[in-house]
Amino acid sequence: MPKGDFKRKMDDSQRRMVEWARGRNGADELSSACTNVAVLLVIIDLFAHTTVLSVIALVLLGYSWFRITSKDVMARARENSRAISATGPVITFIANPVAFAREAKAYVHLTCPSCGQRVRIPRGKGKVRITCPKCHTRFDGKA
Ligand SMILES: [Zn+2]
Repeated sequence: MPKGDFKRKMDDSQRRMVEWARGRNGADELSSACTNVAVLLVIIDLFAHTTVLSVIALVLLGYSWFRITSKDVMARARENSRAISATGPVITFIANPVAFAREAKAYVHLTCPSCGQRVRIPRGKGKVRITCPKCHTRFDGKA
């Protein structure tokens, strides 16, 4: 096959991928977390042989795939932010532990005493006065 043909084929399949992904939700924290938990369950089940764990993993993978390919982006975004605020840092951590660790090293997370909004401050700033972006309450923190 001449080189030009090969390149054209690549471009074509890439274009099809982009076309397919257009208007779909894609991977967010919630679906990544589901996928990672599913992989973890499969690995555990390799040793535990419970079948139940594998079935749960399959359901989680199905749910994750449904989220990634869903065209109702608004509804999925709502679920994602609701899940994140309901579980605190848990989902963000499970979704991408490496990014989570990097984030935790670079920023301090503070919680607004009035509305519970989480605010992040770059580490090493010392004592800071924070204005909550949500309710505009002022509070002191250390970063
Ligand atoms: Zn607030």
